[in-house]
Amino acid sequence: MKKSFQPETLMMSHGYRPEWSEGAVKCPIFQTSTFAFRSAEDGKAFFEVAYGLREKGLREKTGLIYSRLNNPDMEILEERLKLWDGAEACAVFESGMSAITTALFEFLQPGDLLLYSNPLYGGTTHFVHSVLTKWGIEVLGFRPGASRAELEQLIERSGKKDRLAMIFLETPANPTNDLVDIAMCRSVADQFGAPGRRVLVAVDNTYMGPLWQHPLRHGADLVLYSATKYIGGHSDVIAGACLGSMELITRIKTLRTFLGNMIAPHTGWLLLRSLETLKLRMEKQTENAQVIARRLVAHPKVANVHYLGLLTPADGESYTTYRRQCTSPGAMVSFEVRGGEHEAFVFLNHLKLVKLAVSLGSTESLAQHPATMTHAGVEPAEKIAFGITDALVRLSVGVENAEDLWWDLEQALDKIPVPEAVEMAEMV
Ligand SMILES: *Cc1c(COP(=O)(O)O)cnc(C)c1O
Repeated sequence: MKKSFQPETLMMSHGYRPEWSEGAVKCPIFQTSTFAFRSAEDGKAFFEVAYGLREKGLREKTGLIYSRLNNPDMEILEERLKLWDGAEACAVFESGMSAITTALFEFLQPGDLLLYSNPLYGGTTHFVHSVLTKWGIEVLGFRPGASRAELEQLIERSGKKDRLAMIFLETPANPTNDLVDIAMCRSVADQFGAPGRRVLVAVDNTYMGPLWQHPLRHGADLVLYSATKYIGGHSDVIAGACLGSMELITRIKTLRTFLGNMIAPHTGWLLLRSLETLKLRMEKQTENAQVIARRLVAHPKVANVHYLGLLTPADGESYTTYRRQCTSPGAMVSFEVRGGEHEAFVFLNHLKLVKLAVSLGSTESLAQHPATMTHAGVEPAEKIAFGITDALVRLSVGVENAEDLWWDLEQALDKIPVPEAVEMAEMV
């Protein structure tokens, strides 16, 4: 009987054999652009498969040809990433944006309708609004927390319900942790699809993955990652990934070959190294985040905290979706200080340990101000609708000692001046 190991066990070995590389225990960096064929017949056979001129034989391995098509660091990384999401196939890219844009370009055509959840990552928003629309694709956003009836109404009213091609989601929403029900979107997609015209559900799972949320299990067709975040985890590399069925990922890989935005060998190798500690890091990060979130709630300078770990049955739908869809509250905490931009900036400017920087999911804790930084491009009215207020701060909690982190956050919160009215009230 073959024992099946957990992903964290397989991250050190899966897809690589030391005998391929002089016994090297670790997969080397295959820093090469091209691969020598043993014979002309081999070269011919490799190209026949790579160019789809014939089906690959049952026991035939895909031959290494040229690093834009394939490279061991890229392929082993794809094999390992598949394990976390239980995906059939994976394609890795030189950035999260290239994974997202390649998937959107492959599956959308002029005249199609794209429905997406708000707010999306800034780069994705820009691409959807400024690039996809230029190619004649209609785009329609829905608010976080929208009901099924609202989605149906939006699609009906667009006058393009028979051209709905994809529902693109980010859940939990950045930076507010609002949830979108993936299974509900699957069902809406099926309702507007037709035989031979499947409406795809794509989920940018950067905020929770690949450990704490597995969208494919809830009906998604594609899972996307900025591997720059948790997967890379050390703030030293930009990379991305897309996972799904063999059929869909083969199409994405074909487009990747011609766009040339595949991952580089060295980037792939760095991520192989990162994956070995992925679970350890993410577990420690979420443990720290739970401590921080609870203490923030109790702090007098904090008006409110958005953290999945604080949801209770009283939160209704959000709580049910959270319990069904996520396996952990994660390490992203956002909160409003009492006051506005000035008070938020006083807090950020006084942090000593936590770095004032965008990005997330890394070993070191980071803090930023969404309204003027990551979400600066969002229209003022939409900022209000999405809960991105001037007082909002986003924290990505790292693996530091939780008490050290709290010491830093508390001393910076204490620098926020007490509003005069409150001070007066306390004096009497
Ligand atoms: C960072 C990020 C991206 C973009 O990824 P890059 O690796 O920077 O290209 C996309 N989506 C989300 C949710 C992100 O956080």
